[in-house]
Amino acid sequence: MKKPKNPDIAGADHRLVFLGPPGSGKGTQARLLATRRGLTHISTGVILRAEIKAETPVGLKARKYIVTGRLVPDEMIRSLAEDAVRDANFSKFILDGYPRTIQQAQWLCEFLDAQDASLTAVIQLMIDEDDVVMRLSQRRIHSLTGENFHLSNKPPPEEEAEFMVSRPDDQPDAIRKRLKVYYRETHPLIEYYDAQGLLLPVQALGSFSEVHAQIRSTLQIP
Ligand code: AMP
Repeated sequence: MKKPKNPDIAGADHRLVFLGPPGSGKGTQARLLATRRGLTHISTGVILRAEIKAETPVGLKARKYIVTGRLVPDEMIRSLAEDAVRDANFSKFILDGYPRTIQQAQWLCEFLDAQDASLTAVIQLMIDEDDVVMRLSQRRIHSLTGENFHLSNKPPPEEEAEFMVSRPDDQPDAIRKRLKVYYRETHPLIEYYDAQGLLLPVQALGSFSEVHAQIRSTLQIP
């Protein structure tokens, strides 16, 4: 297995992947770190939901996979993710939700390699399954801004209540399906990245700011 070309994770250029089961808070944490450190946040889930909303051909195809908690086919997501990484000039980005399969990880590696770049670290957010179900069933999204809320941890402002919606894939059946899919398809990436010396595990339980602080200290980002 290849060793990272750039093991200096304290360096200025971060090319990061956030890994973790649905409900681990990876989207929120990736967005927070990206905003605070001027990195580009690339969420394939956000990209796909935008495609669905715009009723593009990809969106129309992706919808049936997403609402039932399945992964969209690898080929469907590959160019969307690669376009976003290219738009970020191959640097200073956090990939959130990509790669999700070994195939996608291999494509990403080849894609970066062709630019003589490589990932600098992979953050693994760790959380128990029971906590996942609890978190996801309480997640709400602002239908206009896309901001995430949580009924107990980050309650939405009362005056915004009418805009709060649950994601269709946060219904109990879809949550269980997504978890199964995560352990079957995505969990193997942990070993894959560990073997490359890139994996940095972080406990995902705790307040948003505690987990954020933990991620920064793990990445040695002041
Ligand atoms: P997320 O917002 O990251 O939880 O993604 C929501 C849904 O989008 C997932 O449950 C998948 O159906 C789909 N999706 C997002 N990223 C990928 C990916 N890299 N590969 C396959 N499906 C994806």
